[in-house]
Amino acid sequence: MSKKIVLLPGDGIGQEVINSAKEVLDKVAKTYQCQFEFEQFEIGGSSYDKHGVPLTDETINACKSADAILLGAVGGTKWDNVPTELKPEQGLLKIRKELNLYSNIRPIKGFDSLLHASPLKEDIIKGSDILIVRELTGGLYFGKPRERRENGTVAVDTLVYSRKEIERIVEKGFESAQIRNKHLTSVDKANVLESSRLWREIVEEKSKDYPDVKVDHMLVDAAAMKLITNPASFDVIVTENLFGDILSDEASVLTGSIGMLPSASLSDTVGLYEPVHGSAPDIAGEGKANPLGMILSAAMMLRYSFGMEKEAQAIESAVNESLQQGYHTSDLNIADGTVVQTDKMTQVVVENIK
Ligand code: NAD
Repeated sequence: MSKKIVLLPGDGIGQEVINSAKEVLDKVAKTYQCQFEFEQFEIGGSSYDKHGVPLTDETINACKSADAILLGAVGGTKWDNVPTELKPEQGLLKIRKELNLYSNIRPIKGFDSLLHASPLKEDIIKGSDILIVRELTGGLYFGKPRERRENGTVAVDTLVYSRKEIERIVEKGFESAQIRNKHLTSVDKANVLESSRLWREIVEEKSKDYPDVKVDHMLVDAAAMKLITNPASFDVIVTENLFGDILSDEASVLTGSIGMLPSASLSDTVGLYEPVHGSAPDIAGEGKANPLGMILSAAMMLRYSFGMEKEAQAIESAVNESLQQGYHTSDLNIADGTVVQTDKMTQVVVENIK
Protein backbone atom coordinates (compact mmCIF):
# COMPACT_ATOMS: atom_id res chain seq x y z
CA MET A 1 0.00 0.00 0.00
CA SER A 2 1.38 3.41 -1.00
CA LYS A 3 1.62 6.17 1.62
CA LYS A 4 1.16 9.78 0.56
CA ILE A 5 3.72 12.07 2.18
CA VAL A 6 3.64 15.86 1.84
CA LEU A 7 7.10 17.44 1.95
CA LEU A 8 7.35 21.00 3.27
CA PRO A 9 11.07 21.94 2.99
CA GLY A 10 10.55 25.54 4.17
CA ASP A 11 13.60 27.79 4.36
CA GLY A 12 17.36 27.75 4.91
CA ILE A 13 18.72 24.32 5.82
CA GLY A 14 15.13 23.00 5.81
CA GLN A 15 15.52 22.77 2.03
CA GLU A 16 18.74 20.78 2.42
CA VAL A 17 17.76 18.29 5.10
CA ILE A 18 14.37 17.39 3.61
CA ASN A 19 16.20 15.87 0.62
CA SER A 20 18.16 13.69 3.04
CA ALA A 21 14.94 12.34 4.57
CA LYS A 22 13.55 11.62 1.10
CA GLU A 23 16.68 9.72 0.03
CA VAL A 24 16.56 7.63 3.18
CA LEU A 25 12.85 6.86 2.68
CA ASP A 26 13.52 5.89 -0.95
CA LYS A 27 16.09 3.37 0.31
CA VAL A 28 13.64 2.06 2.94
CA ALA A 29 11.00 1.63 0.21
CA LYS A 30 13.44 -0.34 -1.93
CA THR A 31 14.72 -2.48 0.94
CA TYR A 32 11.35 -3.27 2.52
CA GLN A 33 9.16 -3.34 -0.62
CA CYS A 34 6.86 -0.52 0.44
CA GLN A 35 5.81 2.60 -1.49
CA PHE A 36 5.98 6.27 -0.62
CA GLU A 37 4.50 8.96 -2.86
CA PHE A 38 5.89 12.46 -2.32
CA GLU A 39 4.26 15.81 -3.05
CA GLN A 40 6.12 19.04 -2.29
CA PHE A 41 4.69 22.43 -1.23
CA GLU A 42 6.03 25.71 0.14
CA ILE A 43 5.78 26.98 3.71
CA GLY A 44 7.34 29.94 5.52
CA GLY A 45 9.53 32.47 3.73
CA SER A 46 9.65 30.46 0.50
CA SER A 47 5.84 30.51 0.41
CA TYR A 48 5.80 34.24 1.17
CA ASP A 49 8.21 34.88 -1.73
CA LYS A 50 6.09 32.87 -4.18
CA HIS A 51 2.52 33.45 -2.97
CA GLY A 52 2.67 36.51 -0.67
CA VAL A 53 1.64 34.46 2.40
CA PRO A 54 3.60 32.00 4.59
CA LEU A 55 0.99 29.26 4.12
CA THR A 56 -1.53 28.84 1.29
CA ASP A 57 -4.92 27.08 1.35
CA GLU A 58 -3.53 24.71 -1.28
CA THR A 59 -0.76 23.59 1.10
CA ILE A 60 -3.20 23.25 4.00
CA ASN A 61 -5.54 21.09 1.89
CA ALA A 62 -2.68 18.91 0.63
CA CYS A 63 -1.57 18.35 4.24
CA LYS A 64 -5.13 17.52 5.29
CA SER A 65 -5.38 14.78 2.68
CA ALA A 66 -1.87 13.35 3.24
CA ASP A 67 -1.01 10.24 5.26
CA ALA A 68 1.79 12.22 6.94
CA ILE A 69 3.81 15.42 6.56
CA LEU A 70 7.57 16.02 6.73
CA LEU A 71 8.70 19.58 7.41
CA GLY A 72 12.24 21.05 7.27
CA ALA A 73 12.29 24.43 9.03
CA VAL A 74 11.08 27.98 8.44
CA GLY A 75 12.46 31.47 8.98
CA GLY A 76 15.48 33.59 8.23
CA THR A 77 16.84 37.11 8.34
CA LYS A 78 15.66 37.71 4.76
CA TRP A 79 12.11 38.16 6.09
CA ASP A 80 12.98 40.35 9.10
CA ASN A 81 11.05 43.30 7.68
CA VAL A 82 7.93 41.41 6.62
CA PRO A 83 4.77 42.36 8.62
CA THR A 84 4.36 40.17 11.74
CA GLU A 85 1.29 38.31 10.47
CA LEU A 86 3.16 37.30 7.27
CA LYS A 87 6.42 36.20 8.89
CA PRO A 88 7.61 32.67 8.00
CA GLU A 89 7.03 31.42 11.57
CA GLN A 90 3.32 32.29 11.21
CA GLY A 91 3.09 29.59 8.52
CA LEU A 92 4.29 27.00 11.02
CA LEU A 93 1.95 28.18 13.79
CA LYS A 94 -0.95 28.16 11.32
CA ILE A 95 -0.34 24.62 10.00
CA ARG A 96 -0.15 23.34 13.60
CA LYS A 97 -3.46 25.03 14.37
CA GLU A 98 -5.18 24.03 11.08
CA LEU A 99 -4.25 20.38 11.55
CA ASN A 100 -4.91 20.52 15.30
CA LEU A 101 -1.41 19.20 16.02
CA TYR A 102 -1.69 19.66 19.76
CA SER A 103 0.80 17.06 20.85
CA ASN A 104 4.53 17.51 20.20
CA ILE A 105 6.72 14.54 21.04
CA ARG A 106 10.47 14.98 21.36
CA PRO A 107 12.65 12.00 22.27
CA ILE A 108 16.06 12.95 23.63
CA LYS A 109 18.47 10.07 23.86
CA GLY A 110 22.18 10.34 23.39
CA PHE A 111 23.94 8.00 20.95
CA ASP A 112 26.76 6.18 22.77
CA SER A 113 29.33 7.24 20.19
CA LEU A 114 28.42 10.92 20.76
CA LEU A 115 28.40 11.03 24.56
CA HIS A 116 31.71 12.89 24.49
CA ALA A 117 30.30 15.44 22.01
CA SER A 118 28.12 16.97 24.71
CA PRO A 119 29.50 19.88 26.74
CA LEU A 120 28.13 18.00 29.77
CA LYS A 121 30.22 15.34 31.48
CA GLU A 122 29.71 11.82 30.16
CA ASP A 123 28.86 10.40 33.58
CA ILE A 124 26.06 12.97 33.93
CA ILE A 125 24.36 12.18 30.60
CA LYS A 126 25.03 8.44 30.51
CA GLY A 127 21.77 6.50 30.72
CA SER A 128 19.53 9.50 30.02
CA ASP A 129 16.54 8.76 27.81
CA ILE A 130 13.85 11.42 27.96
CA LEU A 131 10.59 11.97 26.11
CA ILE A 132 9.27 15.53 26.19
CA VAL A 133 5.54 15.80 25.50
CA ARG A 134 4.87 19.46 24.74
CA GLU A 135 1.46 21.12 24.24
CA LEU A 136 1.64 22.79 20.84
CA THR A 137 -1.52 24.70 19.93
CA GLY A 138 -2.32 26.73 23.05
CA GLY A 139 -0.74 28.98 25.63
CA LEU A 140 1.27 32.13 25.11
CA TYR A 141 1.97 31.59 21.40
CA PHE A 142 -1.71 31.67 20.46
CA GLY A 143 -3.51 33.64 23.22
CA LYS A 144 -5.35 36.86 22.34
CA PRO A 145 -4.95 39.76 22.79
CA ARG A 146 -1.44 39.96 21.44
CA GLU A 147 -0.73 43.61 20.74
CA ARG A 148 1.13 46.84 21.33
CA ARG A 149 -0.58 49.57 23.33
CA GLU A 150 0.13 53.16 24.30
CA ASN A 151 2.00 54.09 21.13
CA GLY A 152 3.92 50.85 21.09
CA THR A 153 5.43 51.37 24.52
CA VAL A 154 3.46 48.53 26.14
CA ALA A 155 3.37 44.96 24.75
CA VAL A 156 0.74 42.37 25.63
CA ASP A 157 0.78 38.58 25.14
CA THR A 158 -1.86 36.33 26.66
CA LEU A 159 -1.43 32.92 28.28
CA VAL A 160 -4.73 31.00 28.03
CA TYR A 161 -5.42 27.29 28.52
CA SER A 162 -8.77 25.53 28.61
CA ARG A 163 -9.45 22.37 30.63
CA LYS A 164 -9.95 20.40 27.39
CA GLU A 165 -6.60 21.52 25.96
CA ILE A 166 -4.79 20.51 29.13
CA GLU A 167 -6.62 17.21 29.56
CA ARG A 168 -5.78 15.84 26.13
CA ILE A 169 -2.04 16.59 26.35
CA VAL A 170 -1.79 15.34 29.93
CA GLU A 171 -3.41 12.07 28.75
CA LYS A 172 -0.71 11.80 26.04
CA GLY A 173 1.91 12.26 28.77
CA PHE A 174 0.44 9.47 30.90
CA GLU A 175 0.00 7.14 27.90
CA SER A 176 3.62 7.72 26.85
CA ALA A 177 4.86 7.03 30.39
CA GLN A 178 2.82 3.83 30.53
CA ILE A 179 4.69 2.34 27.58
CA ARG A 180 8.09 3.54 28.85
CA ASN A 181 9.41 3.60 32.43
CA LYS A 182 6.11 4.66 34.06
CA HIS A 183 7.42 7.93 35.44
CA LEU A 184 5.78 11.23 34.47
CA THR A 185 7.16 14.65 35.43
CA SER A 186 4.65 17.43 34.93
CA VAL A 187 6.42 20.77 34.56
CA ASP A 188 4.60 24.01 35.41
CA LYS A 189 4.95 27.31 37.27
CA ALA A 190 2.09 26.75 39.70
CA ASN A 191 3.65 29.00 42.35
CA VAL A 192 2.93 32.01 40.10
CA LEU A 193 0.63 31.23 37.15
CA GLU A 194 -3.10 30.52 37.31
CA SER A 195 -2.94 28.44 34.10
CA SER A 196 -0.30 26.27 35.82
CA ARG A 197 -2.54 25.79 38.85
CA LEU A 198 -5.31 24.47 36.57
CA TRP A 199 -2.69 22.31 34.82
CA ARG A 200 -1.54 20.77 38.13
CA GLU A 201 -5.15 20.16 39.25
CA ILE A 202 -5.84 18.25 36.03
CA VAL A 203 -2.64 16.18 36.28
CA GLU A 204 -3.70 15.16 39.81
CA GLU A 205 -7.19 14.18 38.59
CA LYS A 206 -5.86 12.23 35.62
CA SER A 207 -3.28 10.38 37.72
CA LYS A 208 -6.16 8.35 39.20
CA ASP A 209 -6.76 6.84 35.72
CA TYR A 210 -3.10 5.74 35.45
CA PRO A 211 -2.29 4.19 38.84
CA ASP A 212 0.77 2.40 37.41
CA VAL A 213 2.46 5.73 36.55
CA LYS A 214 4.44 7.62 39.21
CA VAL A 215 3.84 11.38 38.92
CA ASP A 216 6.04 14.29 40.05
CA HIS A 217 5.26 17.98 39.73
CA MET A 218 8.23 20.22 39.10
CA LEU A 219 8.49 23.99 38.67
CA VAL A 220 9.97 24.92 35.30
CA ASP A 221 12.97 26.70 36.82
CA ALA A 222 13.89 23.61 38.85
CA ALA A 223 13.29 21.39 35.81
CA ALA A 224 15.66 23.52 33.71
CA MET A 225 18.37 22.98 36.30
CA LYS A 226 17.74 19.26 36.81
CA LEU A 227 17.69 18.59 33.07
CA ILE A 228 21.42 19.30 32.88
CA THR A 229 22.49 18.23 36.37
CA ASN A 230 20.60 14.90 36.55
CA PRO A 231 18.97 14.17 33.16
CA ALA A 232 18.84 10.43 33.85
CA SER A 233 16.27 11.10 36.58
CA PHE A 234 13.60 11.91 33.94
CA ASP A 235 11.47 9.53 31.89
CA VAL A 236 8.52 11.45 30.37
CA ILE A 237 8.10 15.20 30.81
CA VAL A 238 4.72 16.75 30.02
CA THR A 239 4.47 20.51 29.81
CA GLU A 240 2.82 23.50 28.16
CA ASN A 241 3.89 25.17 24.93
CA LEU A 242 6.46 27.80 25.97
CA PHE A 243 8.12 25.71 28.71
CA GLY A 244 8.35 22.74 26.33
CA ASP A 245 9.92 24.88 23.61
CA ILE A 246 12.67 26.11 25.92
CA LEU A 247 13.32 22.84 27.79
CA SER A 248 13.61 20.78 24.61
CA ASP A 249 16.24 23.14 23.17
CA GLU A 250 18.08 22.97 26.48
CA ALA A 251 17.88 19.16 26.41
CA SER A 252 19.51 19.15 22.98
CA VAL A 253 22.90 19.64 24.66
CA LEU A 254 22.62 16.06 25.91
CA THR A 255 22.87 14.81 22.33
CA GLY A 256 25.78 17.06 21.36
CA SER A 257 23.88 19.19 18.83
CA ILE A 258 20.41 20.51 18.17
CA GLY A 259 20.83 19.06 14.67
CA MET A 260 20.41 15.54 16.11
CA LEU A 261 16.89 15.90 17.51
CA PRO A 262 13.69 14.72 15.80
CA SER A 263 10.09 15.51 16.72
CA ALA A 264 6.54 14.47 15.95
CA SER A 265 3.53 16.78 16.12
CA LEU A 266 0.33 14.78 16.30
CA SER A 267 -3.40 15.39 16.11
CA ASP A 268 -5.85 12.56 16.71
CA THR A 269 -5.69 11.74 12.96
CA VAL A 270 -2.50 13.03 11.30
CA GLY A 271 1.18 13.59 12.10
CA LEU A 272 3.70 16.23 11.05
CA TYR A 273 7.36 15.35 11.59
CA GLU A 274 10.18 17.87 11.79
CA PRO A 275 13.62 18.28 13.33
CA VAL A 276 13.74 20.40 16.48
CA HIS A 277 16.20 22.87 14.94
CA GLY A 278 15.36 25.98 12.93
CA SER A 279 16.44 27.13 9.47
CA ALA A 280 20.01 27.95 10.65
CA PRO A 281 20.53 30.95 8.33
CA ASP A 282 24.18 31.15 9.51
CA ILE A 283 25.06 27.91 7.66
CA ALA A 284 22.31 27.69 5.02
CA GLY A 285 23.59 26.83 1.54
CA GLU A 286 27.02 25.71 2.79
CA GLY A 287 26.28 21.97 2.90
CA LYS A 288 27.09 21.93 6.63
CA ALA A 289 23.63 21.04 7.95
CA ASN A 290 23.37 17.95 10.12
CA PRO A 291 20.60 15.91 8.43
CA LEU A 292 20.19 13.41 11.28
CA GLY A 293 17.41 15.23 13.18
CA MET A 294 15.39 15.28 9.95
CA ILE A 295 16.22 11.65 9.11
CA LEU A 296 15.25 10.53 12.63
CA SER A 297 11.99 12.51 12.22
CA ALA A 298 11.25 10.37 9.16
CA ALA A 299 11.80 7.29 11.36
CA MET A 300 9.28 8.69 13.84
CA MET A 301 6.83 9.13 10.96
CA LEU A 302 7.16 5.45 10.03
CA ARG A 303 6.59 4.45 13.65
CA TYR A 304 3.77 6.79 14.70
CA SER A 305 1.81 7.39 11.47
CA PHE A 306 2.37 4.15 9.55
CA GLY A 307 3.02 1.59 12.31
CA MET A 308 6.21 0.52 10.45
CA GLU A 309 8.30 -0.32 13.50
CA LYS A 310 10.99 -2.46 11.87
CA GLU A 311 11.54 0.10 9.11
CA ALA A 312 11.76 2.89 11.73
CA GLN A 313 14.34 0.86 13.63
CA ALA A 314 16.28 0.24 10.41
CA ILE A 315 16.71 4.02 10.03
CA GLU A 316 17.68 4.50 13.69
CA SER A 317 20.21 1.65 13.50
CA ALA A 318 21.66 3.09 10.27
CA VAL A 319 22.15 6.47 12.00
CA ASN A 320 23.77 4.78 14.97
CA GLU A 321 26.06 2.73 12.75
CA SER A 322 27.08 5.76 10.67
CA LEU A 323 28.08 7.60 13.86
CA GLN A 324 29.95 4.56 15.13
CA GLN A 325 31.87 4.49 11.85
CA GLY A 326 33.03 7.98 12.86
CA TYR A 327 31.07 10.08 10.36
CA HIS A 328 29.57 13.33 11.63
CA THR A 329 28.82 16.88 10.51
CA SER A 330 30.77 19.87 11.83
CA ASP A 331 28.14 20.96 14.39
CA LEU A 332 29.24 18.03 16.58
CA ASN A 333 32.20 19.23 18.56
CA ILE A 334 34.35 16.11 18.48
CA ALA A 335 37.98 15.81 17.50
CA ASP A 336 37.95 12.19 16.32
CA GLY A 337 36.14 10.69 13.33
CA THR A 338 35.51 12.16 9.90
CA VAL A 339 33.76 15.49 9.39
CA VAL A 340 31.49 15.31 6.34
CA GLN A 341 29.00 17.50 4.51
CA THR A 342 25.22 16.97 4.51
CA ASP A 343 25.14 14.91 1.30
CA LYS A 344 27.91 12.53 2.37
CA MET A 345 26.34 12.04 5.82
CA THR A 346 23.07 11.20 4.10
CA GLN A 347 24.75 8.79 1.70
CA VAL A 348 26.43 6.94 4.58
CA VAL A 349 23.08 6.53 6.39
CA VAL A 350 21.44 5.32 3.15
CA GLU A 351 24.18 2.73 2.69
CA ASN A 352 23.77 1.54 6.27
CA ILE A 353 20.06 0.77 5.88
CA LYS A 354 19.75 -2.98 6.08
P1 NAD B 1 18.44 27.38 14.69
O1 NAD B 1 18.04 26.08 15.29
O2 NAD B 1 18.09 27.63 13.29
O3 NAD B 1 20.03 27.55 14.87
C1 NAD B 1 20.68 27.60 16.14
C2 NAD B 1 22.17 27.22 15.94
O4 NAD B 1 22.25 25.81 15.72
C3 NAD B 1 22.80 27.88 14.74
O5 NAD B 1 24.14 28.17 15.04
C4 NAD B 1 22.75 26.82 13.66
O6 NAD B 1 23.76 26.89 12.70
C5 NAD B 1 22.85 25.53 14.46
N1 NAD B 1 22.07 24.46 13.85
C6 NAD B 1 20.72 24.29 13.89
N2 NAD B 1 20.37 23.20 13.20
C7 NAD B 1 21.50 22.66 12.72
C8 NAD B 1 21.77 21.52 11.92
N3 NAD B 1 20.81 20.70 11.49
N4 NAD B 1 23.05 21.27 11.59
C9 NAD B 1 24.05 22.07 12.00
N5 NAD B 1 23.84 23.15 12.77
C10 NAD B 1 22.59 23.45 13.12
O7 NAD B 1 17.81 28.50 15.64
P2 NAD B 1 17.84 30.09 15.49
O8 NAD B 1 19.16 30.53 14.96
O9 NAD B 1 17.38 30.60 16.80
O10 NAD B 1 16.72 30.44 14.43
C11 NAD B 1 16.96 30.64 13.03
C12 NAD B 1 15.61 30.78 12.34
O11 NAD B 1 14.90 29.54 12.45
C13 NAD B 1 14.71 31.85 12.94
O12 NAD B 1 14.06 32.50 11.89
C14 NAD B 1 13.72 31.07 13.80
O13 NAD B 1 12.48 31.70 13.93
C15 NAD B 1 13.60 29.80 12.98
N6 NAD B 1 13.18 28.60 13.75
C16 NAD B 1 12.36 27.76 13.10
C17 NAD B 1 11.98 26.60 13.71
C18 NAD B 1 11.11 25.64 12.95
O14 NAD B 1 10.95 25.80 11.76
N7 NAD B 1 10.55 24.63 13.60
C19 NAD B 1 12.47 26.28 14.99
C20 NAD B 1 13.36 27.17 15.61
C21 NAD B 1 13.72 28.34 14.97
